[in-house]
Amino acid sequence: MKVTDHINKANGKTLFSFEIIPPKKGNSIQQLYNNIDPLMEFNPPFIDVTTSREEYLYIEKDGLLDRKITRMRPGTVGICAAIKHKYDVDTVPHVLCGGFTKEETEYLLVDCHYLGINNVMALRGDAMKHQQYFEACDGGHQFAKGLVEQIQNLNKGQYLHDVAEGHDKADFCIGVAGYPEKHLEAPSLKTDLKRLKQKVDAGADYVVTQMFFDNQKYFQFVEAAKAEGINVPIIPGIKPLAVKRHLQLLPQVFKIDLPETLIEAVESCKDNKAVRQVGVEWAVQQSKELQQAGVPVLHYYSMGKSDNVKAIASQLF
Ligand code: FAD
Repeated sequence: MKVTDHINKANGKTLFSFEIIPPKKGNSIQQLYNNIDPLMEFNPPFIDVTTSREEYLYIEKDGLLDRKITRMRPGTVGICAAIKHKYDVDTVPHVLCGGFTKEETEYLLVDCHYLGINNVMALRGDAMKHQQYFEACDGGHQFAKGLVEQIQNLNKGQYLHDVAEGHDKADFCIGVAGYPEKHLEAPSLKTDLKRLKQKVDAGADYVVTQMFFDNQKYFQFVEAAKAEGINVPIIPGIKPLAVKRHLQLLPQVFKIDLPETLIEAVESCKDNKAVRQVGVEWAVQQSKELQQAGVPVLHYYSMGKSDNVKAIASQLF
């Protein structure tokens, strides 16, 4: 079932969902199941599975460094199929522009279509670690909007390099990313919103937000999006702060602000166990307010560990 159908069926009730990252190459999928199992009691209608950018590895060989390119966490579509099969829950693979040609994207989407996976998150991806700016690969999409258009073409039965008509139509429900505190590269929030509107006009069915720690940022974003003519569901993404290092790391990587009271609470913690507790309590307060405001879904970034998401969900669902 599509994410938007789940939302419509819920009839105003806030749903619970979460995002997982594939295990590192060479690790067992059981690791993932061990993190999913404790969250299934909260009945997530869908689970997102991220896709990692490829990266360069330098391997020493005969005194020289051999450069290899690899994805450290492969298997997104396979994991989606495995989870769907094991738990009978819908899954949402994250599909990236970065590192994929349009042809490779098409093959991936065809796999999803055959597997009955009919939700996808269409994302650009970040720059690779050695790059200052994002660069599309030859024949890849520069922005997520192009990816949304390609997916919508498949929904119309239009495949690449194809002149014939009457092909099997896919039926993807498409999610895209939104940034309550603006995307780090965007010159202004207003410009970023215009680009979000372009993704929605190209066929995106819903938006999932970047993490935020101040609900006012989300509420203002939703209002501004409506004023821009964006009328699809905007799902808030919630990340429970888990270690002291997040105070520097999250603003640096995601260009988001942390509220003073949260910073002070974290700074006064004597260890990361206490930080984890602060993170859970903050996320519970955030979630309760969002739930009362009638958000369609509370979507949690689990980052491979489910104990804190379980602690939050058990107070809400
Ligand atoms: P876009 O919508 O393409 O926007 C990127 C930037 O380009 C923005 O600044 C936008 O304003 C600008 N822009 C858009 N169109 C134009 C235009 N026509 N001209 C000029 N500028 C333009 N990353 C991963 O690698 N894997 C994941 O699984 C993953 N999952 C994510 C899930 C969520 C919910 C979110 C919020 C982010 C996720 N990301 C993931 C991170 C995401 O890939 C990065 O934030 C990336 O930098 C931007 O992706 P986007 O899809 O928002 O890009």
